[in-house]
Amino acid sequence: MSEKGKSMALHNKILLSLVLGGVAGIGAQAVAAGNPAFKEQLDSILKNVIEPVGNIFLAMIFMIVVPLLLSALILGIAQIGDVARVGRIGLRTLAMTVLLSGIAVAIAFALVNLAKPGSTISPEQRDQLYAAYAKDGEKKLGIRAENTETAFTEAEAKELDGKIADAIDKAKPPQDGDPILGIVPRNPVLEASRALSGGILPFMFFALVLGLGLAKSDPEVVAPVRAFFEGIFEISQKVIEMAMALAPIGVFALVFKTGAALGIDIFRVLGVYAIVVLVGLGLHMFITYPVVLKLIAKRNPREFFGQIRNVMLTAFATSSSNATLPVALKAAEEEVGLPKDVSSFVLTVGATANQNGTALFEGITIIFFCQLFDVPLTAADQLMVLGVSIVAGIGTAGVPGGAWPVIGGIIKTLGVPAGAIGMALGIDRILDMSRTVLNVTGDITIAACVSEWEGRSTAIPESVQG
Ligand code: ASP
Repeated sequence: MSEKGKSMALHNKILLSLVLGGVAGIGAQAVAAGNPAFKEQLDSILKNVIEPVGNIFLAMIFMIVVPLLLSALILGIAQIGDVARVGRIGLRTLAMTVLLSGIAVAIAFALVNLAKPGSTISPEQRDQLYAAYAKDGEKKLGIRAENTETAFTEAEAKELDGKIADAIDKAKPPQDGDPILGIVPRNPVLEASRALSGGILPFMFFALVLGLGLAKSDPEVVAPVRAFFEGIFEISQKVIEMAMALAPIGVFALVFKTGAALGIDIFRVLGVYAIVVLVGLGLHMFITYPVVLKLIAKRNPREFFGQIRNVMLTAFATSSSNATLPVALKAAEEEVGLPKDVSSFVLTVGATANQNGTALFEGITIIFFCQLFDVPLTAADQLMVLGVSIVAGIGTAGVPGGAWPVIGGIIKTLGVPAGAIGMALGIDRILDMSRTVLNVTGDITIAACVSEWEGRSTAIPESVQG
């Protein structure tokens, strides 16, 4: 009971820091706009205090993701026990991912075609924005910023194509010792070291194989190994508790920085686009998830959202599904009451593979850029973009801004200069924070559905039943 009381207090503290950080950040930016001396001070405070504090908080969580993931998955799989059951849970997770991402992308398409945010910006505004921000976009993709003109000659376009392909390649894990088919690792230590830069699936495959090996071994012989991983899991949970105790300060710093850097001017031009994204995310969050929770997971959506409040706040503050994973694992077991074997498997896979919010965002953003740059899309093109957005959501790394290399690659193939993404980066952080909330909520929703299908969903804890 005292646990409960403590975690409630933490929710409120984090929420307060979020609000205070946002207000203070936006306020500081407003003051700095008319006061160069203050602006200099603000930049220095951001660089020397705010950024390190926010990054230390993130690092405290990131540093424990790999040991936590390894121990949680090994123990979860060992408990599930047989390959057939792991396969069944995997297929059910995949089916739910495709269903939820499909609905998300359908919402995206309906909204973006209805509101046409790309047509609300005049060609002059577009060209100005492009000239000002294409370099940022190219930098984000890791290509040299040279061309800031909208009019590309064929040769320039070809050259840029090559650079983008290189950039997207670079965004992937290094080629050396690459996993087979992108998932079966040759070198698990290498995979562990790059697990947080988009290469988490091969490492999870390794954990899965170890878990199955543990399940099949003579229990007496492997008892110390099981106890060892139980210990690692326990310690990881404690480290997360310690990190979360810093959350109010860390979250303040992260959100202050976002507020201070928010492109308020750009918001005036890209406001309709941003609103379309937020409305789409809202519809998916407050209609799709509750319906799925009620019909498939047989849960009360309002209570469910209450139980995962901490997870949503962490996702919002960190903009990273991977950083939120430890908090999600803990909440799924302790607050939502999902069986550990199922939730540890579904959540770890989902942190990378299930990103409904990102799929929705990618769908809207790709079509928005096509509207903005007058690239006509036939019905077949739109369908293609729809399918690509679903797959792109699955392939996007669960890190801040993970969506952009994917969007850059896709718009380029459609004939929009990839540097255009720079135009939206100024307001992206707030959209990123929002879509990450959906990504993690979707993961726990799927875990609840799969648990229900597996017939092992623990009833909602009595303490929370109304
Ligand atoms: N930040 C998102 C996540 O971690 C990915 C993205 O949409 O950029 O889930």
